[in-house]
Amino acid sequence: MDELQRELKEMVAQQIEARGVRDARVLEAMRRVPRREFVPETIRENATEDHPLPIGFGQTISQPYIVGLMTELLVLKGDENVLEIGSGSGYQAAVLSLLAKSVHTLEFVPELALTAQKTLENLGYLNVKVHTGDGSLGLSAHAPYNGILVTAACPAPPPPLLEQLAEGGKLVIPAGDRWGQMLQCWERNGKHLSHEDILPVAFVPLRGKFGWKVAQW
Ligand code: SAH
Repeated sequence: MDELQRELKEMVAQQIEARGVRDARVLEAMRRVPRREFVPETIRENATEDHPLPIGFGQTISQPYIVGLMTELLVLKGDENVLEIGSGSGYQAAVLSLLAKSVHTLEFVPELALTAQKTLENLGYLNVKVHTGDGSLGLSAHAPYNGILVTAACPAPPPPLLEQLAEGGKLVIPAGDRWGQMLQCWERNGKHLSHEDILPVAFVPLRGKFGWKVAQW
């Protein structure tokens, strides 16, 4: 096993499995995706550390544990159509691409979308499509989604995202303000939408129609 594989194996064992993420497919995906390739070159050595890292434009790549936890909450088996809001570096989308059939990811900042798309293409994650736009509106062209993962904090789950959720589908989303958010897991059963609070988290703000305005956050 080479040094980079060992680094990923340790990251998964010590930060993700040790904190209770059990889905074997999620753990394996996170051992396989080369997290280093998704962070700026100057901080590659820190790529697997136990905290978020800056990726430019005031944005961050989430802490490995949070990626593992959010991914596990979607309970993916392999045949799903998944939507991610907030592509950032593309790392979370790469993890999802190993666990679902198709992944659409939406990013507000065009420069980040472009870099994420290039990284994903170069590494061969071919079932991911990066889109530029306001993810708080969802992406109706490819709906419905069996899983939707939002990686930026919103005041409340944007209605379009709940509408674009397939029967039995799950929406994982940090809801709250700049002082803190609750990670929530929503599920659709017919017309009924229920949710569970998972744990307090700290994300960058979701912008756009159903996100936070700059004056508010
Ligand atoms: N999932 C990313 C981390 C995302 S950080 C990763 O794995 O690296 C949150 C991202 O959400 C930022 O890149 C930010 O630009 C983006 N974002 C904020 N508001 C958005 C919106 N309305 N639509 C799409 N993306 C948005």
